[in-house]
Formats: sequence, C-alpha cells, structure tokens
Amino acid sequence: MLETDKDAELRNVRQAIVDKNYELLPAEYRKKKDWLSTELGVVFMDSKIVIPLTLKEWVLQVIHGDHEGIPKMRLLAERVWWTTKERNIKDKAKNCITCFRSGKSLKTALPESENNKLPEFVGNWGGSSS
Ligand SMILES: [Zn+2]
Repeated sequence: MLETDKDAELRNVRQAIVDKNYELLPAEYRKKKDWLSTELGVVFMDSKIVIPLTLKEWVLQVIHGDHEGIPKMRLLAERVWWTTKERNIKDKAKNCITCFRSGKSLKTALPESENNKLPEFVGNWGGSSS
C-alpha cells in the first residue's frame, strides 16, 4: 500500500488531479494546480514528490540527520514537497536541542523554561559501588 493512500487529504488531491476537478483541491494545493500531476499513484508538485503526512516527520529526521542548517536541509529536501515544508524545516532546526547546545541556533535561543526542561545527568560516572 502506498503511503499516499493513507493520507486522506493527499488521496483527495490525487483524485482531484485525475478528474481535473481543481475546485476540490485544498487551498494550498489549488494555488499550485498548474504544477500538480500524478503518476503511479504518487502526487507530484512540479518535479517534486508530494510527501504524505505519515512520512513528513521521517523526512525531517533524515534531512536533519547530521544537524544540518536550514539551507542544507532545503537542499536535501529539494526533491520532495508538502504544504508546510518551509515552516517545518525552520522549526526542526530551531527546536533541535543538539543544535542549540552546539551554538548553531544562537539567534533563536530557547526560553529559560525550555532550558530547565533539559534532562539532568543523574547516573554516576564511576563503576558499580556494590
Ligand atoms: Zn540539530
């Protein structure tokens, strides 16, 4: 089963493209209807594959796998598209604790309350004491 089939919205988008019934497209898609197409059950926006919501988190993980910055993440995600892609990429980079700690996103420092939520190390570094 295609992931596209599990995403109700994307299923509707695909049907609207097949039927050329663009009135049925959600607003974010209607603006781009001239670039939409479908092939083998997959929806394309221009030459980009439209990612179903079930795969969105996974894609974000992959493109941020090496804690890349936003420009590199955009580049890695250049072949895929979804409606909130740009916002999600920014949020992913901004909300990454590892990037924050390494000073990559100093401009978007977490509020104090977020800092306080970081888990503290409570184990012991030495060997067993028993
Ligand atoms: Zn990161």
